[in-house]
Amino acid sequence: MAVERTLSIIKPDATNRNLTGKINAKFEDAGLRIVAQKRIQLTKAQAGEFYAVHKERPFYDELCEFMASAPVVVQVLEGEGAIAKNRDVMGATNPADAAPGTIRADFAESVGENSVHGSDAPETAAAEIAYFFSGLELVG
Ligand code: GDP
Repeated sequence: MAVERTLSIIKPDATNRNLTGKINAKFEDAGLRIVAQKRIQLTKAQAGEFYAVHKERPFYDELCEFMASAPVVVQVLEGEGAIAKNRDVMGATNPADAAPGTIRADFAESVGENSVHGSDAPETAAAEIAYFFSGLELVG
């Protein structure tokens, strides 16, 4: 399987509860390397641009407010099949449906405040990484 990179975000509900280290341990235990990482505060407009694909969804405004409500940790995870592997480690969108031991099963508070974001395909991973990181910040 090819080595891939994927964009991960530790969301405000998790940074508020000081869970960055516990979530990073789940990535590393699964064999994902954190090859870039920074803690930033998004504006609502930046959150809206990032989640533009969800513009027509009823929860869009709530999602943008939430993502701008506290700092987030944006990160690039690298590994074999990293995109799908990260989705496995994250668990289902709704924590009620997430498999035991996944980040969302262990930490998420609700379907909206669900602790992490992860890219869902190679094209979105490339675009999402480029949204937050320059080539100079990706040292592997
Ligand atoms: P993901 O790829 O598992 O993050 O899920 P989606 O791409 O379907 O949704 C993006 C994000 O929108 C989710 O991670 C949630 O934070 C949020 N979201 C999805 N569905 C709902 C919902 O029904 N209500 C609210 N408030 N937020 C939602």
